[in-house]
Amino acid sequence: MAFESLASRLQSAFDKLRGRGKIDEASVNEAMREVRLALLEADVNFKVVKDFVARVKERAIGQDVLKSLTPGQMVIKVVNEELTELMGGNVAKIAVAPKAPTVVMMVGLQGAGKTTTTGKLAKYLQKQNRKPLLVACDIYRPAAIKQLQVLGGQVGAPVFALGDKVSPVEIAKQALEHAKANHLDYVLLDTAGRLHIDEALMDELKQVREVAKPDEILLVVDAMTGQDAVNVADSFNQQLELTGVILTKLDGDTRGGAALSVKAVTGKPIKFAGMGEKLDALEPFHPDRMASRILGMGDVLSLIEKAQEAVDEEKAKQMEKQMRQGEFTFDMFLDSMQQMRKLGPLEDLLGMLPGMNKMKDLKVDEKQLGRTEAIVQSMTKAERANPDLLNANRRKRIAAGSGTTVQEVNRFIKQFEEMKKMMKQFSGMSDKMNKKMNKL
Ligand code: GDP
Repeated sequence: MAFESLASRLQSAFDKLRGRGKIDEASVNEAMREVRLALLEADVNFKVVKDFVARVKERAIGQDVLKSLTPGQMVIKVVNEELTELMGGNVAKIAVAPKAPTVVMMVGLQGAGKTTTTGKLAKYLQKQNRKPLLVACDIYRPAAIKQLQVLGGQVGAPVFALGDKVSPVEIAKQALEHAKANHLDYVLLDTAGRLHIDEALMDELKQVREVAKPDEILLVVDAMTGQDAVNVADSFNQQLELTGVILTKLDGDTRGGAALSVKAVTGKPIKFAGMGEKLDALEPFHPDRMASRILGMGDVLSLIEKAQEAVDEEKAKQMEKQMRQGEFTFDMFLDSMQQMRKLGPLEDLLGMLPGMNKMKDLKVDEKQLGRTEAIVQSMTKAERANPDLLNANRRKRIAAGSGTTVQEVNRFIKQFEEMKKMMKQFSGMSDKMNKKMNKL
C-alpha cells in the first residue's frame, strides 16, 4: 500500500501520546521530532516539512491542546487537519466551461501515465453523463496514437487523430471544431511527453495552449518518483501555468512525498489520483480522506463510494431478501464474491478500514479465493442450489474439474455450511431486531 511506512511511523509517534492523561510541551516536541523525520523519510520537500512542523507545534502547544481532557487525541486531530490543508484542503473539481466544449490539456513527461490517464478521465466524465472527445496530439511517440485509439475503443469514446504528419497545433484546432460540430462537451488533448523537460517541448505546448485556450491544464506526474515529481510539477507550472495535477501510481508503494508536497510547492491542487492500471482506477483526490488514511483512521467514505459503484443494486436487494429468509446457496456465495472482487484487491479494501493498516500480517490469499471460485464453478446448477446432493463421487468430480483436491472441496463445503448456519442465525436476529425497532 502507498504511504505504508509513513503511516506506521506517524502512528507509532502518536501511540506514545495517545491515552496519556496529561502531556507537556516536551512530549509534543518529542512527537513532532518523530513526525519530522517520518515526513523527511517519506521524501516530502524539506521546506514543506519545516513549515508543517512549525504550524502543528504552534497549534499543539497552544492552550487548547494541553488543557484538553485528551491532549494526545487533540494533537492527532491538529496533525490530521494540517495534513489535509497541506494536500489542498477541499476536493478540487474539474472545470466546466460556461460554453461547451470544456478543453482539458493533458501534459506530462513520458511514462508518467498521461495517455492512460486521458482514457481514465474520459471514462470518469462519461459516468457523469459527459461526452468526451480524445485527441491524439502526441505525434512523436510511434505507439501513442494507436494507444489512445485502443483506450477510446475500450471506454466507448470517440478519438480524433490526424496521423503523425500534421502538427499538434493543427490537430488541436481541428479537434475543437469536430467537437463543436458533434456536440461533444469535453475535449481531452493528449499532448506529447519527453523524457526530460526541454525547450522544444514547452514551446510546442505553449502553441497548443494558444489555439486551444484550455479551461484546464492538468499535469500528469508519477507519484513513485517522489521529489522529482514535485520538481517536474514546479517547472511545468512555471512554464504553462497549470490548473491542477494528477498523481498516478498511488497504488504502488510510493513513499508519499509527492502527494504531500505538490500543492505546497506549486500552489496547484491535486485533482485526481491514479490508483491502478485499469481504466476505472482514477479517483478524485480527497485531501481529508488521504490524511485519514495516512494516520490510520481509515477511509470508510471512499470504501462506501466504491461499493456503490461496483455493486449491482438489483442483485444485492434480491440477495438480501433471500438471506433474510435464511436461504443461502453456492450461487449466492459466488455472486457475492464476484461483486466484492469488482471493488479491487481485497488488501487495498482492508487498508481503508480504520486501524487495519497496523495489522501487517493480514494478508488476503487471492489465489485461495480463485480456487474457491473454481470449486463452485465446477458444480452443476442443481448442486449449487442443493448442497445435500454433494456425495463422494460428485466431490471427486468437482475436485478434478476445478484443479483442486477432494480435501479442499470438503473443507470449503464445510465452511460454506458454517456460513449458512451463521446466516440463519443473523436473519433470525435481524427479524427480532426489526420487530423491536418497529415497536419503538
Ligand atoms: P505516458 O507516456 O505518460 O502516456 O504513459 P502511459 O499512459 O503509456 O503509462 C505508462 C505506464 O504506467 C503504463 O504501463 C500504465 O499502465 C502505467 N500506469 C499509468 N497510470 C497508472 C496508475 O495509476 N497505477 C499504475 N500501477 N500504473 C499506471
